[in-house]
Amino acid sequence: MNLKLRGHHLLCLKGFQGYGYDENFVRNMKYINSKRKDNSTTITLLDCPDDICASCPNLKNNVCEDETQNERIIAMDREVLKKFDVKKEHNSIELFKKVDEIFNTTESVSKICYECMWHEKCLFYQKLLNNR
Ligand code: SF4
Repeated sequence: MNLKLRGHHLLCLKGFQGYGYDENFVRNMKYINSKRKDNSTTITLLDCPDDICASCPNLKNNVCEDETQNERIIAMDREVLKKFDVKKEHNSIELFKKVDEIFNTTESVSKICYECMWHEKCLFYQKLLNNR
């Protein structure tokens, strides 16, 4: 299958441990998180609403919360996407391996994760903190 993922969600998926905005969001996130671990899955990278946003209560008229927040989220996506070829479809396993290689310190995610409300619940961010 092919998943459509916005840039910063590559990091969110690595940190996901079952928390989310509501039940429907968590169910979808669990599904996507299991599919991205399948070697036959491919990923298309985006800087706009994706397969995770599709089940998010914060998405209204294709905008995340409001215009200000939406711009901030797109900037986060683009920080991640700078590191990847957005024109190609990526093998999911290889893509997430690269995510681990590139984003391996708190400094490497400082422009992406700095204001995230999920810091304490995010396995990915907590691991980076512990590696300091
Ligand atoms: S709509 Fe916003 S808060 Fe919801 S998943 Fe997408 S980026 Fe995250």
